[in-house]
Amino acid sequence: MRFMARSVLVSGGCGFIGSHIVDRLLLRGDLAELVVVDNLWTGSRSNLAHVKDARLRVEVQDVENFTSAHRFDEIIHLASPASPPWYMRDPARTIRANVVGALNLLGLLKPGGRFSFASTSEVYGDPAVSPQPESYRGAVDCTGPRSSYDESKRCTEALLFETRRVSGLDVRVARLFNTYGPRMRIDDGRAVSNFIVQALTTGALTVHGDGSQSRSWGYVDDVIEGLERFFWRDRISPAGPVNIGNDIEVPVIEIANYVRSLVPGSRIEYREPAPHDPSNRCPDLTMARQLMPGWRAGTTYQDGIRRTFEWFREQLAAPSVAVEPGPREISRALAG
Ligand code: UDP
Repeated sequence: MRFMARSVLVSGGCGFIGSHIVDRLLLRGDLAELVVVDNLWTGSRSNLAHVKDARLRVEVQDVENFTSAHRFDEIIHLASPASPPWYMRDPARTIRANVVGALNLLGLLKPGGRFSFASTSEVYGDPAVSPQPESYRGAVDCTGPRSSYDESKRCTEALLFETRRVSGLDVRVARLFNTYGPRMRIDDGRAVSNFIVQALTTGALTVHGDGSQSRSWGYVDDVIEGLERFFWRDRISPAGPVNIGNDIEVPVIEIANYVRSLVPGSRIEYREPAPHDPSNRCPDLTMARQLMPGWRAGTTYQDGIRRTFEWFREQLAAPSVAVEPGPREISRALAG
């Protein structure tokens, strides 16, 4: 079989989702070159430390400033913080990474090349319908505390679909629902990683509000399988946007209680609700199932959390993590 050797760029390839995508890309026989652009704001070099593959090159810089002498056959744009405390901390930088990053990367794509983008269920805001189909236009506060993330994902979707309309750009847009698993930062701040790290350090799991708000928690391997199939493996022609995630909705308090059950003596501490916290989130996966027959995010939250728990336990036991930052500093930051 004859391959066209492909040159691929992944922005955010040192991040949680990005590093798992890099692992999958490196399994491709038609991959000639893989350039990762990452400024290590929320990503980490350690996420790719296991990779010994001469096709991979990591460029540590902001995606919006990256330049290249040659163009790429495929670009996968993932560079962005995804955890509320991180993106709320520097909203302008969040918008630059998503929107200006996409504008810059579009100029680095070969004519006829493919541009894939990880959008988010946050485009639905605090949804008034459940589950959310891709056709639902959402309820987003465009000046609220989550807006730098929500609106920059929405704007990038607009940029890509409008470029497709006027010039035929080959795009793939996936809307990811809550995803968790190994390689999240210890200080990521999202629910599953927070609860696990808190259970293993202070013993106090911080539940915002009364914990009745719900999410659909997708284990990373399932989500990456969907992304791989949609972005390149299944040779899918519809551009999306397509929801990717787990469609079993579970309240935050149930997740916290499950993590608590893994560490005897750990307890729940209730905190103020997070700012503009959506009350629910659940993907309608009808389109994903049509596009990728047989794909499902089948890992139960119990299995996924146990795997993630083991991974964090090893991380916290590693000498480098214990020193910088130490669990006490981490838990202080996590406790907010
Ligand atoms: N959450 C919580 N405690 C934490 C972190 C998050 O109760 O330490 C809640 C948060 O308020 C939200 C849900 O868990 O209702 C999911 O939050 P996360 O930050 O993981 O994702 P997102 O809000 O972006 O869906």
